[in-house]
Amino acid sequence: MTEPMTKHSVVVVGAGFGGLTMAAELKQAGVENFLVLEEGPEVGGVWRENTYPGCSCDVPAHLYSFAFDPYRDAHVRYPGQQAILTYMREVADRNGLRSHLRCNVSVVSADYSDTDRTWALSTATGEIIYTDAVVWALGQLHRPAIPRVRGTQTFGGPAFHSARWDHTADLSGQIAVVGTGSSSAQMIPELARVAAGVTVYQRSPSWVLPKPGASFGPLSRRALTHVPGLHDLYRAGLYHAADLVLAPIMRAGWSAGPAELVARAHLRWQVRDRELRAKLTPNYRIGEKRILLDSGYYPALSQPHVELVTDRIDRLGPDGIRTVDGTERRADVIVWATGFRAPEFLAGMRIRGRGGVDLHDRWRRDGRPTAFYGLAVPSFPNLYMIAGPHSFTPSNSNPSVKQHQARYIMRCLALSADWGAPVEVIERAMASYIDRLDRALARTVWCDGAARTWWKRADGTITNAWPGTVSEFEQAIADSDPAESFVRVAANARALVERR
Ligand code: NAP
Repeated sequence: MTEPMTKHSVVVVGAGFGGLTMAAELKQAGVENFLVLEEGPEVGGVWRENTYPGCSCDVPAHLYSFAFDPYRDAHVRYPGQQAILTYMREVADRNGLRSHLRCNVSVVSADYSDTDRTWALSTATGEIIYTDAVVWALGQLHRPAIPRVRGTQTFGGPAFHSARWDHTADLSGQIAVVGTGSSSAQMIPELARVAAGVTVYQRSPSWVLPKPGASFGPLSRRALTHVPGLHDLYRAGLYHAADLVLAPIMRAGWSAGPAELVARAHLRWQVRDRELRAKLTPNYRIGEKRILLDSGYYPALSQPHVELVTDRIDRLGPDGIRTVDGTERRADVIVWATGFRAPEFLAGMRIRGRGGVDLHDRWRRDGRPTAFYGLAVPSFPNLYMIAGPHSFTPSNSNPSVKQHQARYIMRCLALSADWGAPVEVIERAMASYIDRLDRALARTVWCDGAARTWWKRADGTITNAWPGTVSEFEQAIADSDPAESFVRVAANARALVERR
């Protein structure tokens, strides 16, 4: 086969938090021959896609930001979606990442050539892009899940998913919101402000902890403005506090009881109506699904023009929603705040590795998607993921996990350069990692918990979440030597890979 015309060292797919982190790592290492391909028109990932009213992040931005270019604002603790998106754009500009970015490029497949030891990425327009290494940074929460409900086609008004907000829809009438996760909780107070009525359809309630105010108080502002190093100290404090206090909840550890007490007190304090409170009280352990940090949700639900419906939806009609008890409620607009198809990693993408092995076939055989630290899979040389299987933290900041993954990928790329060939993770290293992962997953409340959560498939298999703290992830990945866990891939190495 002839040498491809142009070949990149690395192609990163996706320009959200993961993709920009990877790009910054490459840039800092002096790699210039790399591309970032983005399906959308702009950087931002979920912060570009989610524009629902009230969209914000319930993790303080000092922590939920890039470690290489951290958020520094002495006024705002929790910026809204637009401000987060602006910050991401500025990070791309400040760090010289724009020149590597190609937007509106949709990658549909990736094929590894055993002969050339090169990846060929095909785009939706038929372009083929060659690269030595590919990093998928697609995130886990970008494929909307909309339940199939009878009569959906008959509904006469606008109906859309929370991550595909229709800004032309008139919100002054009766709004139906299906789902009561983080997105729903953030939008309900805003919708209740403008709509004549809001009907919220709940399948299961969330545990909710109080959230501090969006802005810092005057003392904190002054301190953050004048005390050198305080921004960094605050960030470090949040990181460790999340690991020390929130992470143990996921394992029914020391903080689960106190957290549940606080959540119950928060509910009791904010919801005076007994009946409503009963509907909002979860019947599963705290931590089994994502805990909401919110102080506006309960007061919004307590307003007279907001109704919480717990009967199952039976069908949609031209004018609204009918529940299984036969009640029909009018809706002018329906918002599906029903989450994402998160367990389907790299869905719709055909990825063929060494010897033509198909990634989805491998995951089917394994019974679930898996990856070494959520970033590499045997038989896929120089193919990496950021935020791959089992690398989402429900208790800390995901940009931190992505940063640790990007740094590890840099070590793998350096190893590949050093060995003069692609590298791939060894089955034995993978098996030993999965063994440790499964033992840790078994200790979480998600494992035997009955609650549905987006990081679990319908059959109960946990696919997305990391079971430990982020410090544990950081330590484990730092201790893992790619030279021990990866091998050099020879040309035409169909069945076996050679040791160096
Ligand atoms: P989600 O947490 O998956 O919540 C989806 C909601 O829809 C759940 O209440 C679910 O009920 C309900 N639902 C799903 N299918 C349904 C059906 N067929 N009938 C009735 N209800 C149905 O989705 P999300 O709220 O968009 O949040 C997803 C994740 O995005 C969050 O967990 C978080 O990680 C991230 N996020 C973060 C922030 C932030 O501030 N950091 C904000 C928004 C989102 P069940 O609970 O019964 O399944």
